Amino acid sequence: MIRPEDLLHPTPAGLYCPPGDFYIDPVRPVDRAVVTHGHSDHARAGHGAVLATRQTLAIMAERYGADFTAREQAVEYGERTTLNGVELRLIPAGHVLGSAQIEVRWKGLTMVVSGDYKRRRDPTCALFEPIPCHVFISEATFGLPVFNHPLAEEEVARLVRSLGQFPERAHLVGAYALGKAQRVIKLLREAGWDRPIYVHGAMERLNALYEREGVDLGPLRTTRDLLKGSLGGEVAIAPPSAIQDRWARRFADPVTAFASGWMGVRARARQRGVELPLVISDHADWTELTDTFTELKPDEVWITHGREEGLLRWAEINGQKARALRLVGYDDEDDEAVSGPAEGSGEATAAS
Ligand SMILES: [Zn+2]
Ligand SMILES: [Zn+2]
Repeated sequence: MIRPEDLLHPTPAGLYCPPGDFYIDPVRPVDRAVVTHGHSDHARAGHGAVLATRQTLAIMAERYGADFTAREQAVEYGERTTLNGVELRLIPAGHVLGSAQIEVRWKGLTMVVSGDYKRRRDPTCALFEPIPCHVFISEATFGLPVFNHPLAEEEVARLVRSLGQFPERAHLVGAYALGKAQRVIKLLREAGWDRPIYVHGAMERLNALYEREGVDLGPLRTTRDLLKGSLGGEVAIAPPSAIQDRWARRFADPVTAFASGWMGVRARARQRGVELPLVISDHADWTELTDTFTELKPDEVWITHGREEGLLRWAEINGQKARALRLVGYDDEDDEAVSGPAEGSGEATAAS
């Protein structure tokens, strides 16, 4: 019987598969990469070859240009493929458009690399699919019991109520440009908001890509040509950094909102001067993480990128064999946007 470490093990460049000779989400340029999803810490330019879903490859081409890799290999969800005798399947991860878990099978051993994932419904991407495996490698962004995300639909309902309450003020929503922005727009549509939604110029290309992939976002307008002081009672969506820079100053007395799992931490919202924090996360919260482990019951859980300690403790109490991987080079897209480079990591204990 082979050991899991023989099939996948952490290296400074990322998770490496020796028999298949490929890396998953490598953080350095490598000959052959398998990429879980399009966020820039997982999907980097400069690899010799990239295997990913068609949507993830399209996102990478949009961000880095068509020459982001020498060779692309698009694989459909559920389709079986092999690299040097190692079997691979990409399974929906429910994180953003095109996001996939990577199932790796070799000599009777099955390992699943979750990438980033969530279990909640998201109208802009396929739902996470649980796959039985010997080893499940899980992210841990919100891996502490204090993190319990409310329903995203309820958070968007709060935004719609605020628009009714303050019809003279523009509502500026900070949202990460890949995934979060399109999810917020789509949830607004589901909540009955059919007015044009204004979007920052930096989001237009990814919005168009989602539209091409069949995610109907409704009428969108660019904020580029807007006059100062306009947009009372309207919604404008922008990357989180724009909410605090010159872009936001053209709006008179706006309501600033921010859509992130970190908005559950009141200190973070205060620090950023966010008037309307919207707790909307594309990552699994504590319950989603631990429910997933309970459901899959793998022989081992490997925990990486985030708060490993709480999940290791949970595993110990619940008789689940677990270890922390300590991969480096991944940062949560929202975390970076909320905290900025200066903040330490003690925020979780301050959460309520
Ligand atoms: Zn991600
Ligand atoms: Zn990530």
